[in-house]
Amino acid sequence: MTTKPSVLLFFIDGLGIGIRGPHNPLDNLDAVPLAVFQNEEPQPFLDGIVVSTDARLGIEGRPQSASGQTTILTGVNAPAAVGYHKQGFPNQSLLEIINNQSIFKQLTQAGVKPITFANAYTSRFFNERPRWVSATTAAVEAAGMEFRTIEDLRNDSAIFMDYTNRILIERGEEVTERTEHEAAVVLAKLASQHRFTLYEYFITDKVGHAQDMELARKVLKSLALFVRELLNLVDLERTTVILTSDHGNVEDLSSRNHTLHAVPTVVWGAQRERIAGRIKTLADITPSIVALFN
Ligand SMILES: [Zn+2]
Repeated sequence: MTTKPSVLLFFIDGLGIGIRGPHNPLDNLDAVPLAVFQNEEPQPFLDGIVVSTDARLGIEGRPQSASGQTTILTGVNAPAAVGYHKQGFPNQSLLEIINNQSIFKQLTQAGVKPITFANAYTSRFFNERPRWVSATTAAVEAAGMEFRTIEDLRNDSAIFMDYTNRILIERGEEVTERTEHEAAVVLAKLASQHRFTLYEYFITDKVGHAQDMELARKVLKSLALFVRELLNLVDLERTTVILTSDHGNVEDLSSRNHTLHAVPTVVWGAQRERIAGRIKTLADITPSIVALFN
């Protein structure tokens, strides 16, 4: 356990700031603090500061995952660097940016340790590593960090991208289901043991593309509860918790595509004003975190 300042970065794929209406699963849902709407004061939760964050980054077209996540994880405006919003997995140009400037690398160079990626990877990933991987996976590899495993998850030292473990159980992994509270206990423990912890969640983007209202509401309600449980467990005197997204999607199920909306960045705990005050676009996330440790 360290008492030095620390950061937990909670990345949620495909969560934008939309408008209320029957197309938005966040409307009339018990989903504070994720339920943020355009032109409305957000409902406060534990003094969190909500910053409307530009995900379009001055480049035409719909924001996409590979370039958006690269931007969040490096502080480099990746769509501007490659000239367009890149879908799915990073290509060679984005990988170069990640290899040189990932947040894990920048923090390591600044002497910030220990740092970790909280997500568990299954043995399938280690046995047949895919040719193209997510920006986060690339960032972890670029910094020479270890991936957490299902064995770590069984020992309450890792958390799956589906924090309930239900997807793992469906795939035949021998793990037990977790409640939102149980999952939050694990992530809060990891955050207390590290100076920088990243957690990645992307089911929001999947249900957004599926345009499944019932499932989206179920997922978002659970996710909001998970975030609240987490914030109640994390030592906010020491830790800054930053929640952000790469682009909008789930807040408008009338379209299968990502949206052009800004995304919510929510900052809780220590130094929240300092961090929130620096954030205008996705490119400001990494620099604001690195500056916190200087
Ligand atoms: Zn998507």
